Amino acid sequence: MSYAFSPAATPSVAVAGSNTRFPVHRIYCIGRNYAEHAKEMGASIDRDNPMFFCKPADALVEDGAQIPYPQATADLHHEVEMVVALHSGGTDIAVDSALTHVFGYAVGLDLTRRDLQAIAKSKGQPWDAAKGFDHSAPISAIHRASEIGHPQHALLSLEVNGQPRQRADIADMIFTVPQIIHELSKLFELAAGDLIFSGTPAGVAALTRGDAFQARLGDIAALRGAII
Ligand code: MN
Repeated sequence: MSYAFSPAATPSVAVAGSNTRFPVHRIYCIGRNYAEHAKEMGASIDRDNPMFFCKPADALVEDGAQIPYPQATADLHHEVEMVVALHSGGTDIAVDSALTHVFGYAVGLDLTRRDLQAIAKSKGQPWDAAKGFDHSAPISAIHRASEIGHPQHALLSLEVNGQPRQRADIADMIFTVPQIIHELSKLFELAAGDLIFSGTPAGVAALTRGDAFQARLGDIAALRGAII
């Protein structure tokens, strides 16, 4: 068997304190997982039915990257989020066993073309163009759960040009990490290499060319980058 042309490289993320890398299979995201963010977006909260969307695996951007301002938008927004990395998966995963599938944790940005999202919402169209564009998923190194455990409380924060933009405890999430894995696995077969962006707190706002950002998940993970 031969390919008609060379296949794309497997997207991967650094593993903290290691030379090995985490090969990425899929990127899932949950929407409206912090009440104060849902409120600022004028969205209702549904505590029974989580809302998911995806980004392409190759939308990943590594720590320290200079990210080109995306095409087709005049309103690029940041959404700082804890990212959950899986080393195994399956379907219909029980809440009680969900954390056994977690490889580790990172902090990332769910970059969003907010103007395109507003159009999609108004027309009842899918969010792919608003969420799944190139370079839309900056992510820090992944910190192994075997070393840091499974954080229950951690300050999720974002500074832009040294000024605070977003700040919340991950304990404020509406769907917890085990619940997110459980709910996602009812819709998709989860697999080793999957990343899950776990939702953003209030304070989303615009990024412009020249902005430098620093995201943190407590003292667990940190991500720096710039928009150019
Ligand atoms: Mn988000």
